Amino acid sequence: MQQQHRVLLAEDNKINQVVAVGTLKKLGYVVDIVEDGGQAVAACAAEEYDAVLMDVMMPGVDGYQATGMIREHERANGLKPLPIIGLSARAMAGDREIALEAGMNDYLTKPLRTSALEEVLGRWIDRSVVVD
Ligand SMILES: [Mg+2]
Repeated sequence: MQQQHRVLLAEDNKINQVVAVGTLKKLGYVVDIVEDGGQAVAACAAEEYDAVLMDVMMPGVDGYQATGMIREHERANGLKPLPIIGLSARAMAGDREIALEAGMNDYLTKPLRTSALEEVLGRWIDRSVVVD
């Protein structure tokens, strides 16, 4: 029996949460939701996830800052880097580079399309297993 993969969704917008969770469940993922970067950092330290979907714009600690804190925690503790996929409602030139520089592995624009989410999560979760 195939083990279900766990995804953490860090997203402050309720409507975006509902849309993303519906899509993730349809794709067979188990989802936890947090609403800001600080909660995302705490959840990643406390639980084991296969990937994080990280909204870049959140109140308080934003997605870029949270990613930096998660990477620092991983380095300090010799942990395998968690795949972190940035989510943004903007589709501006250079946004992908900003996300990658912040330590994210990949980047998707909202509204999320099922096919894009499936492709990106499949790629990073499979890769993390192979690298391990
Ligand atoms: Mg947001």
